Amino acid sequence: MVDLKGQYQNIKEQVNTSIAEVIENTTFINGPEVKTFQKNLEQYLGVKHVIPCANGTDALQIAMMGLGLKPGDEVITADFTFAATVEVIALLQLTPVLVDVDPDTFNIDTAAIQNAITPKTKAIVPVHLFGQCANMDEIMRLAKDHKLYVIEDNAQAIGATYTSANGHKAKAGTIGDVASTSFFPSKNLGCYGDGGAIFTNNDELAHTIRGIVNHGMYKRYHHDVVGVNSRLDSIQAAILNAKLPKLDTYNKARQLAARKYNAAFKTINTIITPLTKKNCDGLCELCDCHVFHQYTLKVKNVDRDALVQHLNDNGIPCGVYYPIPLHRQKAYLDKRYKEEDFPVTNQLIKEVISLPMHTELDDEQINFISSKVIEFVNG
Ligand SMILES: *Cc1c(COP(=O)(O)O)cnc(C)c1O
Repeated sequence: MVDLKGQYQNIKEQVNTSIAEVIENTTFINGPEVKTFQKNLEQYLGVKHVIPCANGTDALQIAMMGLGLKPGDEVITADFTFAATVEVIALLQLTPVLVDVDPDTFNIDTAAIQNAITPKTKAIVPVHLFGQCANMDEIMRLAKDHKLYVIEDNAQAIGATYTSANGHKAKAGTIGDVASTSFFPSKNLGCYGDGGAIFTNNDELAHTIRGIVNHGMYKRYHHDVVGVNSRLDSIQAAILNAKLPKLDTYNKARQLAARKYNAAFKTINTIITPLTKKNCDGLCELCDCHVFHQYTLKVKNVDRDALVQHLNDNGIPCGVYYPIPLHRQKAYLDKRYKEEDFPVTNQLIKEVISLPMHTELDDEQINFISSKVIEFVNG
């Protein structure tokens, strides 16, 4: 699905040198690389504060702790996403409220958010799924009207740009009150282990969060709030410093691969290629609306699981993200959920298939993969 080795070959010297430097200096924790990465990422995103942490799941949890959400507060998020999002809501004893998604973008359905708002609702967590922003104009409007926090789960869309209806552009993760991201190796900006970060433009919240990631300390050995231990290693920060300048190039390579897949499937009416917000092909220079963390097709009237098997039999890895809706996961069952509230997610889990998507895909691979998909769906 990803080719981390191929990508490493092209940055090997730089990465090896910066890792060696950390080892020579033995500044493994909170070394200067971490601060440099924080500054570099703040500048790249155009956001006031980046707080590095240990992984994307912690980042979400810490963002919610920083906002002071309390047990019983309801937090609305998407039914069709990775479990980390709902997991941290439940861990903090907040009440997760799962809602359905949009069939074209796979992102949280804003009408469903509106229907789910109650007097107990305190926050919305849109997930920018597969590399494309949720409908932030509408989400921010709902949040403003109902005085809710917006926590962007940006683990899959780092580098994507969101364009508002008024033409204003902002990087994914800089629009809500706070955002989280992950540097898991296969993410668009991946390190060589676990890593994550929180972003915000709010000075006070940034200060609170900086303490939370470090045992609730604002002054050494003074623990003002209950915190956690969640740090980005210096070695991971050094790797990220080498990779961040390439992020736009990496995302362009993904967009180019997506464009080639789209062209290959254009005439196949049982295959629905990913829709981007402006229905562009994700390559126009001004528009980075989709950074293709995943390239996800919907197949209609096709045995999707047999297609997965066919591709695997031909040595092609592929993924089904996500095969089970969160509202049906044992850990998150809730009497308030009714199957008829999730028609889109319930359909998507049967139709989606994600093809290999990474920065090193070449034409030959794309042609081979798409021809094997077409061979199967055309029977
Ligand atoms: C990867 C991911 C996370 C969690 O990130 P980790 O670094 O693996 O903890 C959270 N949310 C979404 C949507 C993700 O894709």
